[in-house]
Amino acid sequence: MGSTDVLHDGGINNTYEVVIFGAGISGLVSAAILLEQGIKHILIIDEYPHIGGNHISTSIGDMTFDVGSFIFQDTSDLLKYFPELRPLYVPIRAQSGRINPRGAIRKYPFSVEDEVIKAGPREWIRIALSLGFARLFRRRIRNAQDYAEYWIGRRLMKQSGLGHFMERFYGVPPANINIQFAQARMRWIRENATLRKRIYQFLRPAQPAYRPQQQLARPKEGFDYLYKAAADHLKRRGVKVLLGAKLVKVDREGEGFVVRSAVHSFHTSRVISTIPIPTMLKLCGLPTSGPLKTVTLLSLFYSFQGDRGFGCNVLYNFTATGAWKRLTVHSDFYGADRGREFFTVEVNANHVDGSIEKADQDFRKHTSAHGLYSGELHLEGSYVLENAYPIYVDEASNRAAESIRVLRDFGIESFGRQGGFDYQPTAQVSIQAAKSALLTA
Ligand SMILES: Cc1cc2nc3c(=O)[nH]c(=O)nc-3n(C[C@H](O)[C@H](O)[C@H](O)COP(=O)(O)OP(=O)(O)OC[C@H]3O[C@@H](n4cnc5c(N)ncnc54)[C@H](O)[C@@H]3O)c2cc1C
Repeated sequence: MGSTDVLHDGGINNTYEVVIFGAGISGLVSAAILLEQGIKHILIIDEYPHIGGNHISTSIGDMTFDVGSFIFQDTSDLLKYFPELRPLYVPIRAQSGRINPRGAIRKYPFSVEDEVIKAGPREWIRIALSLGFARLFRRRIRNAQDYAEYWIGRRLMKQSGLGHFMERFYGVPPANINIQFAQARMRWIRENATLRKRIYQFLRPAQPAYRPQQQLARPKEGFDYLYKAAADHLKRRGVKVLLGAKLVKVDREGEGFVVRSAVHSFHTSRVISTIPIPTMLKLCGLPTSGPLKTVTLLSLFYSFQGDRGFGCNVLYNFTATGAWKRLTVHSDFYGADRGREFFTVEVNANHVDGSIEKADQDFRKHTSAHGLYSGELHLEGSYVLENAYPIYVDEASNRAAESIRVLRDFGIESFGRQGGFDYQPTAQVSIQAAKSALLTA
């Protein structure tokens, strides 16, 4: 990553009304909201050399890979703030599946039909007993394991592979994940697994929504191409965007701040931070209230020719083995490249000692044991993404809240996936958080 500031819009002042740290969804939308509020002199600074934050694509030949699975909806507020993005997206019909502990490909995240109804009377009794036990005897729900067992019972948790998936996804065993996090961000378990509701849905399939959402994928050219349109939108309205900038210090100066990068100094009356909390505290010379752990995500980029063994575009690993957690077949959305499919596999770095080689070997071994990817599989490249997801262990939520309060006392508004240490599962959730922070400020 370059430490030389690259100014993408020519000309820079040294005084701004607001300086926003981070050019991800939270930073971009914040700038758009501030413009609506009549603030004119805004600077966005990011240490990445590109716009869009963790929405990162890599082109290898004519194939474009993302660091993970990114699927959007045409109802997203992002399109209200940046309407020029809409025609750039590729309309898709994404289908998610999962490989369950018995190696079968099933619907994601649950299939009441397969896991319950087709399982037969013996299994119904086991599930009912485990669910009854959880509801009657689990008085205190202390962590994500308890939470999931309360809603689906231990038997269904085991049969579906949900526990394995949670560990791969959230970085630690479900019994170590804070209950606050489970309640805030795992409501999908409750929503998908309320057995009564699922059986009802199975028997009476839902009527189509009044206006079905159109799913969207980024353009074939990649995220840079998409978010350049958002940056251009902001620049036309006078917002300055400084990329590849290494921030070194933030000092208080009277009622405002001095923000120093490796190359520039800026004066501003307001700082909005969407970057990791520990980084922001350090820049301000403020104490931390303990570590805030995050997942480092390894993304493996493959091309393939042969029989992949499943039909969906996004496949989750719910088995007991294999470090990979999810794969996304980009070529289903953009077309194969000279007969070769291409896809990204996501792996939590901690589960393979941070080694791409180990992750690759593990993926090959696991998929070949499960009859997936029989043919010619080639590792085209990889990407290491730090700070991909917050890990909610050891009172992390409380420590994050305390650090955000320390920053607020210093005068800095901190929110977003990293700035709020908030597992925002979708860009829409990030936008709602930015709106609520800025519209109530
Ligand atoms: C793998 C993955 C898959 C996802 N899939 C989907 C999906 O399918 N659909 C969906 O809607 N959402 C998805 N999301 C969630 C969505 O991407 C986030 O909610 C949203 O992008 C968060 O934006 P943000 O701006 O808060 O954070 P980020 O995107 O993390 O942006 C923070 C920015 O801060 C910058 N920064 C960090 N340190 C510094 C520093 N020292 N100085 C300056 N700048 C710094 C970073 O470079 C980055 O640009 C996914 C997220 C991930 C990681």
